Amino acid sequence: MNLNPSAKSHYLCAKLFYMSDKPVRVRFAPSPTGPLHMGGVRTALYNYLFAKKNNGTFIIRIEDTDQTRFVPGAQDYIMDSMKWCGIMPTEGPGIGGNYGPYVQSERKDLYRPYAEQLVKNDAAYYAFDTAEELDDMRERSKQMGMPNWQYNHVTRTTLKNSTTLSQDQVEAMLAEGVPYVIRMKMPRNRDIRFEDIIRGWVVVNTNNLDDKVLFKSDGMPTYHLANIVDDHLMEISHVIRGEEWLPSAPLHFMLYEAFAWDCPQFAHLPLLLRPDGNGKLSKRDGDRLGFPVFPTDWHTAEGELYSGYREKGYFPGAFINMLAFLGWNPGTPQELFSLEELCEAFTLDRVSKAGAKFDPDKTKWFQQQYLRMTPEKELAEMLAGEMESPLDLESLETICHLMKERATFIRDILSDGSYLFEQPTTYDEQTVSKKWKDDSAAVLSEWRGVLENIAPFTHDSIEIAFKSFLAEKNLGIGAVLPLFRLLLTGTGMGPSMFEISEFLGKEECLSRINQGLISVEALKNKA
Ligand code: GLU
Repeated sequence: MNLNPSAKSHYLCAKLFYMSDKPVRVRFAPSPTGPLHMGGVRTALYNYLFAKKNNGTFIIRIEDTDQTRFVPGAQDYIMDSMKWCGIMPTEGPGIGGNYGPYVQSERKDLYRPYAEQLVKNDAAYYAFDTAEELDDMRERSKQMGMPNWQYNHVTRTTLKNSTTLSQDQVEAMLAEGVPYVIRMKMPRNRDIRFEDIIRGWVVVNTNNLDDKVLFKSDGMPTYHLANIVDDHLMEISHVIRGEEWLPSAPLHFMLYEAFAWDCPQFAHLPLLLRPDGNGKLSKRDGDRLGFPVFPTDWHTAEGELYSGYREKGYFPGAFINMLAFLGWNPGTPQELFSLEELCEAFTLDRVSKAGAKFDPDKTKWFQQQYLRMTPEKELAEMLAGEMESPLDLESLETICHLMKERATFIRDILSDGSYLFEQPTTYDEQTVSKKWKDDSAAVLSEWRGVLENIAPFTHDSIEIAFKSFLAEKNLGIGAVLPLFRLLLTGTGMGPSMFEISEFLGKEECLSRINQGLISVEALKNKA
């Protein structure tokens, strides 16, 4: 597709003026052909942000005119995912609004008159060729060395349609009920020129476009016709959608002209690329490369599972924040944005043309930051939700306080901080082999004696006692603290030992030291 306007040709565009003074109304228009891929969620998000930023309306419209690709459950999945992301539309199926219904199959009857109007205006025509005849045509053309046969301004002159048949013949065939489709009558050699908000001027010559089917023999419109009719009837001001629809935009532009309707502004978003930049991020990539590409789990009818961010433990805010940056940036170093801040900061002129590389590590980083930013009280509630028999919320809050700097997901708190729930059963062998010396057991027993007499048993008083113990024994911190940690937690690293001790309480600390001494000495003797 030529992105530079060519000076030579006659342009078709100037007549269509953009609606700039009308209220902002944008739509997300997924087809329920499966779960919503991350790229689809990003399209929904950018529409949502654009609407909020411009005091506009965000609409969801389900485009299900292709009944052969309909997947049961997909619509519910889409709505559920958007709800989880916190980007619910204000008009849509199950939500309401003055422009409904918002599912195209429920609007079925309204499209035919529009298709017929185009035929009347000589912008479209009836085509009676059967699928077999067209397959034949394609095959013959392939054999003649032309693999890309198209129904277009040249080939239509030799085919069975209302541009080649007489009006009487056409009327007779229609009356007889001969199956037909309605095709766009693409004019010859005209440059279609339109300005895309993200891509700038786009110029396409109609000689490169085929006569797309607008209305099918099953009585349903195709995506192209239904999309334009609905965008018009729903008073859509901006069409914000994925780059894969850019090749359809010239046809859409022509349809607006044929109907003499105002054309919405177009903004085609960059593709999402695989982490190595090699090609489009596809639905198969996710589980193959070890990260989800769907917002929530999707179970296929065949029993396959495509994993989702929600079930992996991501917070919706982190997922949305990460997605916002796949193709957009605020122009400042700030990376962490709440949804409200994104609404405030988002503009389409900061969306890039170039494909956006998905980065799973950066996605984890966002999640880590969100976990750290979440109030401990909320984390405690989430943690309780992950446990079969949760501790009291106050204890869980302390656990979250201790562990959140080291965790990415709530589940990490449970696994990495398991010693906060129960006595360790294993002891880090590296710490044992590197740090456990002949006199360690004696030193730790003495330290145990000190602990026994600390009251109140708070992290401050434990820390003060620990420091004076080291000074008195003339020992370095590295000779005692890792061993103290080892006995209490079984690990070689973790949060403040003084806070851990206070959380466990004196009795538990003393008993763990006893148990630890026995186990570590046994380990030592074995080695
Ligand atoms: N139904 C199309 C899709 O599935 C919508 C394209 C558009 O937004 O115009 O993505």
